[in-house]
Amino acid sequence: MPVTITIPTPLRQFTGGQSEIQVEASTAGEALDQLTATHSELRRHLFNDQNTMRNFVNVYVNDEDIRHVSGPATPVKDGDTILIVPSIAGGSVAQVDDLRSEEATQVSNLRYDELPMLSNEEVARYSRHLIMPEVGMTGQRKLKASSVLMIGTGGLGAPVGMYLAAAGVGRMGLVDFDVVDASNLQRQIIHGTKDVGRPKIASARDRIQDINPHVEIETHETRLTSENALRLFVNYDVIVDGTDNFPTRYLVNDACVLTGKPNVYGSIFRFEGQASVFWAERGPCYRCLYPEPPPPGLVPSCAEGGVLGVLPGIIGAIQANETIKIILGAPDIMVNRLLLFDAWRMRFRELKLRKNPDCPVCGDNPTITELIDYEQFCGITQQTETKSTMEEITATQLKQRLDQGDDIQIIDVREPHEYEIGQIPNSKLIPLGQVLNRMNEIDPDRETVVHCKMGGRSAKAIDALQRSGFPGKLANLKGGITAWSDEVDPRVPKY
Ligand SMILES: [Zn+2]
Repeated sequence: MPVTITIPTPLRQFTGGQSEIQVEASTAGEALDQLTATHSELRRHLFNDQNTMRNFVNVYVNDEDIRHVSGPATPVKDGDTILIVPSIAGGSVAQVDDLRSEEATQVSNLRYDELPMLSNEEVARYSRHLIMPEVGMTGQRKLKASSVLMIGTGGLGAPVGMYLAAAGVGRMGLVDFDVVDASNLQRQIIHGTKDVGRPKIASARDRIQDINPHVEIETHETRLTSENALRLFVNYDVIVDGTDNFPTRYLVNDACVLTGKPNVYGSIFRFEGQASVFWAERGPCYRCLYPEPPPPGLVPSCAEGGVLGVLPGIIGAIQANETIKIILGAPDIMVNRLLLFDAWRMRFRELKLRKNPDCPVCGDNPTITELIDYEQFCGITQQTETKSTMEEITATQLKQRLDQGDDIQIIDVREPHEYEIGQIPNSKLIPLGQVLNRMNEIDPDRETVVHCKMGGRSAKAIDALQRSGFPGKLANLKGGITAWSDEVDPRVPKY
């Protein structure tokens, strides 16, 4: 019986959609060599030029991280499962030490006589908690004494906010700067149809207050930044990470480590989710797991890759559950553990996490002692520069040129199910993952415009073609088919 390698969703485009691949091997390294020998595009995503495993990819044999066993030499035997787990999408620093000691009192340790009383109305509301010995009057009063800061009121923030409010958390801080869009409603159930166009924070506040008027709500309509994060975090007991981008995720992690707060983590992509509690005082932080983010664009965002609507409901509910357990002082908090959930196959897996003694922020000799520029850390600035050197054409310009009879071939690098939603006339579909293998279908003697939904994947396709020596003239359609719908033909639906 061979060894099974599980391929995560973002990398399945390089395995022809396969989610599991079986190989014969005696070590983890051998198994990965075999895998990348048959799927060569994968190699670039898993290994760097020095042939070492990239930092944003972790490899597990069964539930053990191979970094903590023997690295690539970790033995495997027939029937073992190898998991590739990539990261998914997503103040005054001088006072940091003071902040940490000041906040040493944790709500779970408060004495009974230090806790706020419940009114008769609250007793009636929380009766199903009060009759459980694990919560009881003490636990419910701890919940009332507690405060939780939610970063984001989107897909994950929706169940987190609603369940924590219903459970009786005394004070909740909401951080968001976004506005409710019609495309949010498929999963962000804290917002309703009537809220489209409103600030998310106002919509979320109204819903939470309706669920439980006893909750004190503090709204912070701002983007979380290195300047405001520490000031915000010190005022709360628990931080819940409901973000959807890497710069904010690393910012939340580092600010939690610097202020000593537990970071209740959740992330989602298509139908796969991850959850954990990162709490540097008791276990690893997010950087122990993923020292570096993936290069920009490698892992698509939910706007690009999609997300099953119910998935954030499940992962967000798990985050709410862990938050309540932290407040109550429950024994088995999800520290030192990473939960992986596959909604499509309805499968939960759990991996062991360990603190990395060399972690730059929570390790023995931290090099990050204040918040940094996270956009730069995640390579976002760099990406903008690269993009600006690529030849671009706007939808309006493309239409004009086609109307005047210019010979232009249009390559659509989206997926077939997106092509079904709408197309630009006379475009040829070659999904991004197949672009290099099907390069011979693109005529280098004709001028070529490449497009996708928004312009990100087409830029990657052009970059890949140029690096592979494609000789023809390539231009990226700025804003993708979305811009085509806005500027040229509104009959093409936007999604
Ligand atoms: Zn760490």
